[in-house]
Amino acid sequence: MATLTINQERFKTDFEALSKIGATAQGGVNRPAFSPAHIKARDWFRKQALKAGLEVRIDGAGNNSAILHQDKASKTLLLGSHLDSVPDGGRFDGALGVVAGLEVLRTVKETELRLNTHLEVIDFTDEESSLVDYLGSRALAGLLQPEDLRAPMGGRSNFEVGLARSGMKEDEIFTARRDPGSLKGYLELHIEQGPRLEMAGARIGIVSAIVGIRAYHLIFQGKANHAGTTPMETRSDASLGASAFLLAAREITLRDAPDCVENVGNLHFSPGVFNVIPGQVDASLEIRSIDEASLDALETSLLARARIEAERFGLGLEIKAVSRALPVRMDPNAQSALWQATETLGLSPLTIPSGAGHDAQVLAQITSTGMVFVPSAGGVSHAPSELTIWEDCVNGANVLLGAAVRMAGIKNPID
Ligand SMILES: [Zn+2]
Repeated sequence: MATLTINQERFKTDFEALSKIGATAQGGVNRPAFSPAHIKARDWFRKQALKAGLEVRIDGAGNNSAILHQDKASKTLLLGSHLDSVPDGGRFDGALGVVAGLEVLRTVKETELRLNTHLEVIDFTDEESSLVDYLGSRALAGLLQPEDLRAPMGGRSNFEVGLARSGMKEDEIFTARRDPGSLKGYLELHIEQGPRLEMAGARIGIVSAIVGIRAYHLIFQGKANHAGTTPMETRSDASLGASAFLLAAREITLRDAPDCVENVGNLHFSPGVFNVIPGQVDASLEIRSIDEASLDALETSLLARARIEAERFGLGLEIKAVSRALPVRMDPNAQSALWQATETLGLSPLTIPSGAGHDAQVLAQITSTGMVFVPSAGGVSHAPSELTIWEDCVNGANVLLGAAVRMAGIKNPID
């Protein structure tokens, strides 16, 4: 049999149509979870799926699916990614995997290939963690807890507004859980979002592992007071502890944790005005690594250092753990299906870890999971200039198709 490939033109037309939804003047998209543009993108996806003769489904966590049923199959192979974006994000992150998944299902349907497994392309809710981190995939995997919804990353009230806007009901979210026994596996095509493939001159990557990510609020507490009349030496300035911690955190990570990265992505000053000494500073700290023990060690030393800096400037410190995603290895069977697909297409893949979090990290905890990466020009992502050359997108979709057919298994014609 000739190597099965997707319909390139149709794939491109779809991708361009989707890129217009929530398009920004800078060339990216702005589709945070549950925003009007995000809801519109999901409407578009379901419409395309129906047009292709696929079954459409929305589960309790808002995950949108298109399904290609196979006779007498009992399990489902999921192909997925996400249609939400970070604020002012790029066109490729998430969207590429969903559009490619849709194209894979259409191709299989058209060729009348009979498989042993149902195929389902799924668009997960809030992969970018605007409101509740990995809401859709965690609910599907049975790894979401009621307490995760009580004080979510994006704030409880924003979450309630988002639910109402998208017509979701909170008590139905947990019904999205699937029995792991009903799944054959999960495959995801995604842009790399980093420079490794490009630097190595590789056009395609097979993911070996995905980093674990831990996030915290470090709340330095001082005393707000008049910025003009309070003597310098008697101030209890929360910004000093936070600033000293920022610089120390970088130094500690570079020196003691070469396989980790750390970031303080936000500092929130209260009251946050010129003429009042900062009474409180909330620092948003995140650490990542593919090694759990390294994360444990870095967490211990960074949090200890935060306490030392708070004490040094006479401040209180409250530490709130916000989220924790485990580092995971990709499944060898899924990786081998991806390898075989790349070889059949004459591509030479590079095996690399993912420094970015993905729904695949959640799915890997319940089913055989693999990820394929295509290069990000200049390593840029989460920005309007995010770009993957189109030929690489097509390669990625064809690898997804080849691996999906291998994992699903072709039915013997005499069955
Ligand atoms: Zn993504």
